[in-house]
Amino acid sequence: MTSSPLRPQAPARADAPRTRPVLIAGGAGYIGSHTVRHFSALGLPVVVLDNLSTGHRQALERAAPGVELVQCNLLDRPALDALFARCQPRAVIHFAARAYVGESVTDPALYYRENVVATFTLLEAMRAAGCKTIVFSSTCATYGIPQRLPIDEQHPQAPISPYGRTKLHIEHMLADFAHAYGLRYAALRYFNAAGAARDGALGEHHEPETHLIPLVLQAALGLRPEIQVFGEDYDTPDGTCIRDYIHVEDLARAHQLALDALEAGQPSVIANLGTGEGYSVRQVIEAARKVTGRPIAARIVARRPGDPARLVSGGSLARELLGWTPQRPALEDILADAWRFAVAHPRGYDA
Ligand code: UDP
Repeated sequence: MTSSPLRPQAPARADAPRTRPVLIAGGAGYIGSHTVRHFSALGLPVVVLDNLSTGHRQALERAAPGVELVQCNLLDRPALDALFARCQPRAVIHFAARAYVGESVTDPALYYRENVVATFTLLEAMRAAGCKTIVFSSTCATYGIPQRLPIDEQHPQAPISPYGRTKLHIEHMLADFAHAYGLRYAALRYFNAAGAARDGALGEHHEPETHLIPLVLQAALGLRPEIQVFGEDYDTPDGTCIRDYIHVEDLARAHQLALDALEAGQPSVIANLGTGEGYSVRQVIEAARKVTGRPIAARIVARRPGDPARLVSGGSLARELLGWTPQRPALEDILADAWRFAVAHPRGYDA
C-alpha cells in the first residue's frame, strides 16, 4: 500500500477532471480516515498522504482497503513535488496537523512547524503543480473565549492557545493565497468531533487520549477507574463545560460537499461545522451511562486551563453554501456509535 514518491514530472493541468484523485493529507487520522472512507464509498479516487505520527495504518486499511498511502512528511517539499507530479491530484483535503491544546502551550515550536510551516509547504507544492483547490480543517478554537453565543462565522477570532493561533494563521494564509494566486479553499471550523463509523469499523484512537467521550467510554469499559470532570464552577446550568459534539461522519460528508461546491465554481467558503446544540460534561456522562448500561464513576477535579465555559456553533453558512446539515446530531447516537467502536477495539487500532 505504501509507495515511494517518484521524480517530479510535468505540472498538473489547471482543469481538474473528477477522474483524478483527491489528495487527503492526514487521511490515516480520526476525521481523515472517515473522510477517506466516505469518498471511497462514493467511488471517488483518493490518495492518502500521512506520516503516521499520530494516524493509524489500520484505520486506512479499514477505510478503503488498497488505497494508496504515501508515507511522507508535509515538510518534505521534494517528496510533495514528486507526489503531485505523479498523482496529479485535482484537489487537496488537508487534515494533517498537531491538535493537542496543552501540548501546543508547552511545545509551540512543534505546532508552528507542523501546522503552519507544513501547510505553507503544502500550499507551495500545490502552487507549483497548478493544484488550486483545498479543503482545510480549521477549528472553533480560532474564536477563543466566546463574546456571544452561539458562535457564528462572523464572531471575532482571538484564539487563546498556540494550537488555535496556528489554525488561524493558516486561515489567513489561505485567504492571502486565494487573493494573490487564485487558490480556492474551504476552511471548515469544527466544533467537537465525536462518534465513530456507524458499523463500528472506524473510530477515535489518540495516544494519549485526552477527549471526553473516548475517556468516558474507557471508564465504562473498566479500562480506567473514573472520569475526571474538569471543574464544576463554570457559569453553566450544572457548572460543567458545554460543548457542541458533531458526528465524525457528518464532518466527513461536509468535506465532500465543500469540495463539490468549490469544483462547481462556488467561491471560497468558511463555515462552522457543529449541531448548534450544547451538552455539558455531566450530560455527556449521564447519556453515556444510559447508552452503555454501565456505571461510570465521575470525580470533580480542578478546571483544565484554557477551557471556555461554552462553545456552541451558530451560523448557517454550511447549510446555505454547502447544503450540509448534520444527519446524526443526537448525542445518544454519537455515543452509541463511539461505544460500538470502543467495545470492539477497547485498546484502539493497534492492539
Ligand atoms: N473534559 C473533562 N474531563 C476529561 C476530558 C475532558 O471534564 O477527562 C471536559 C473538558 O474540560 C471540556 C469537555 O470535556 O469541557 C470536552 O473536552 P475535549 O478534550 O473532549 O474537547 P475540547 O473541547 O477540549 O476540544
